[in-house]
Amino acid sequence: MEDIMTRNHYFIPNKVKMYVDESGQERLYAEPQEQLIDTIITSFGQYTRDNTRKLSISGKRHLSIAEGKSGVFMGGTINYGYKNVDKKWTIDKGEAAIVKNVFEKYASGHPVKYIKTYLDSNGIKPRRSKLWSLGTLQTMLKNRVYVGEYVWLDKESGIKHPIVTPQIITHSLFNRVQKMLEKNMKHKGNNRRQYESLLGDFMMCSCGEKIGCIIRQTVNKKVYGCSSKNHQWKGKNVELCFNRRGMNMDLTDAFVVNQIKDVVGNSSILKDRFKKDVLSQKSIDSSQIDIESR
Ligand SMILES: [Zn+2]
Repeated sequence: MEDIMTRNHYFIPNKVKMYVDESGQERLYAEPQEQLIDTIITSFGQYTRDNTRKLSISGKRHLSIAEGKSGVFMGGTINYGYKNVDKKWTIDKGEAAIVKNVFEKYASGHPVKYIKTYLDSNGIKPRRSKLWSLGTLQTMLKNRVYVGEYVWLDKESGIKHPIVTPQIITHSLFNRVQKMLEKNMKHKGNNRRQYESLLGDFMMCSCGEKIGCIIRQTVNKKVYGCSSKNHQWKGKNVELCFNRRGMNMDLTDAFVVNQIKDVVGNSSILKDRFKKDVLSQKSIDSSQIDIESR
């Protein structure tokens, strides 16, 4: 249809010569009869293209059902750890060893951040970037493709077809990792609540790390302190920091809150600031208006 519209509204008025794509034969549409024939040829071309596409999709559908068990690869980007050999999921030995390593490291208690740093600092790169992202590793740890279960989604019908892939991770290791992921997710939530503090997100140490809430267990006191040690333990690359000082949290919070109250309560400071800000803004605006109205 598009071809016909283009012909009538563009090619004919502009006297454009057109050729049939495969045969190279000139398309004729000067006379109504020629137009009719051209319409038939064009429509038939479209029909053939549509039909080929339909056949290729139903072919894939058939292939996934018939050969899903033998690990047929349906196209797209194959997961890390595998390669496409003759349209079959095949283990890539080098990548598979890294996948195994990631699972084993996580199962033995190393956080994802640690694994990222470990891979990055050992020159082990993901396929299309220089460094690993935490998200990529987390997705890898959850991906059932590594226990041999891939699901190909037929976008046309919305039906999911199971494909059997060669197994890289044993079920017991995979299940152990899933349990730990779940536990660590819950733990993360608890940690956040435990370390909630008034100023934790607003202060930064001279080394560049955040000043966070630290519980001094010996004296059972909450203090603000540099989180470089904590971040380093979690696997982040941090600058060496000798700032071991802690600020008593309750006293610091009270001090800062009082300062804020003072500033807000003492209206002359705010008023002055407001005047200055608003007036300078106004003068900018009026000077701009002057320029624009000239
Ligand atoms: Zn620091």
